[in-house]
Amino acid sequence: MVGQRVRTRFAPSPTGYLHVGGLRTALYNYLFAKKMHGDFIIRIEDTDQSRKVEGAQRDLIKTLEWAGIVADESPLHGGNFGPYVQSERLDIYAGYCQQLLDDQHAYYCFATHEELEENRQLQIKQGLQPKYNRKWLSEEMGGSMPPSAIRKKLDEGAPYVIRMKVPDYVSVWFEDIIRGPVEFDSATIDDQVLMKSDGFPTYHFASVIDDHLMEFTHIIRGEEWLSSMPKHLLLYEFFGWEPPKVAHLPLLLNADRSKLSKRQGDVAVEDYIRKGYSSDAIINFVAMLGWNEGEGSQQEVYSMQQLIDKFSLERVGKAGAVFNVDKLNWLEKQYIKNRPTEQLVEVIRPILLDELECKKSLMPLEIITSDAYLANVIELMRERVGFEHEFVTFASYFFFEPDSYDEEAVKKRWMADTNTLLREFTDILYSLEEFTAGNIEANLKEFVAPKALKAAVLIHPLRIVTSGVSFGPSLYHMLEVLGKETVLRRILKGIENIDVPA
Ligand code: GLU
Repeated sequence: MVGQRVRTRFAPSPTGYLHVGGLRTALYNYLFAKKMHGDFIIRIEDTDQSRKVEGAQRDLIKTLEWAGIVADESPLHGGNFGPYVQSERLDIYAGYCQQLLDDQHAYYCFATHEELEENRQLQIKQGLQPKYNRKWLSEEMGGSMPPSAIRKKLDEGAPYVIRMKVPDYVSVWFEDIIRGPVEFDSATIDDQVLMKSDGFPTYHFASVIDDHLMEFTHIIRGEEWLSSMPKHLLLYEFFGWEPPKVAHLPLLLNADRSKLSKRQGDVAVEDYIRKGYSSDAIINFVAMLGWNEGEGSQQEVYSMQQLIDKFSLERVGKAGAVFNVDKLNWLEKQYIKNRPTEQLVEVIRPILLDELECKKSLMPLEIITSDAYLANVIELMRERVGFEHEFVTFASYFFFEPDSYDEEAVKKRWMADTNTLLREFTDILYSLEEFTAGNIEANLKEFVAPKALKAAVLIHPLRIVTSGVSFGPSLYHMLEVLGKETVLRRILKGIENIDVPA
């Protein structure tokens, strides 16, 4: 393996959405490959045809690409080691299976489901670990079935599976990059089915063949596959192949340390995309689920490139990683806070244009969609939004007329003379040559001082009539950004629509 180009893979089954755990597996494979200047490959494992979901393969790859994980080889983009979909490689598996049969490392098994189940129950009752009882192992291979009986079944066309013959009395040992040395006794390993009765290989068989033929140097996958390793290693040995290096990633846990489940929150990456999380925050968040840079590092926000530069499998922990959505929300805010304004402008404009397709604005479109206007909104709102889309949705008053006024706030802030004060102040605003925050503030203060009123008697109502809500950025700056025409129109409309509460 010395000098070999690093090749890693993500091998999802196309059974639906992309699980956040799957995203982490894909990400770690990608980070490791890129760090080592190697290749990252996507292979689709669709050998369980009953669980296959139409369109899932494309969606998985597209979701990964959305997250910035673009494969060097995949079913969508091809490569030199294809096909990259297992159902298109059946001939390959059949050939290798024949080799194992010929070498007496595998055998036909005609046991029915009922028989297998009966055997299983019996073993459980006897306190044994359920395993296939090798009824169909031939005399030639150390079993008790006469070869003629097997021949007869085959000639009759009886349905069968093909099982691997796990050697007796051996121990299977390997070194996991994350877990260190791991050992299994062959007595605990079942004669795994390699070929199912429908002619499809099982996951175990297909993945070993493909991992070898596609020349992967490192297999990085979830902890749930650790117990499959001895079967895989035996297959490598049967074929005389050198196994790749392996790393099994820690489990993802709910806050209560139970295994991450749908019942306690979203687990599909698509759900987070729909909610408006950015790929940067999700990638950063998922990267930290099991990996850290090491003591001494205070860094919490990483770009993909920084992750590539710093990632190492040695710094992936063994202990389960708690999935904490608060951390994701915090990261999302950090990204918005720190992202250059010109980048955010480009993210927000399409969101606004989408919104404008279904909602009418009374403001001049060429202004509200301009770089300068969007940049102003971003500067006022970046500390206040949790998601990029909130620049348009949460702060919709920068683009659309308020369609209601916060009732509680109106009740609290409207006095008998509020509408009159607003009307008088409108005249002052109207006469302003320069509609700037400083000018508006100075004039407001000058207006209330002789009346012995506090600025608040106008500040709150002005915010409510112009934005519909009682909170937001600095009022004076908000009014400046909205512009004179919009501000005057909204005040007058507010006066018309808001009655002095009784
Ligand atoms: N198809 C398996 C899965 O869905 C892949 C396991 C592996 O990486 O070997 O997780």
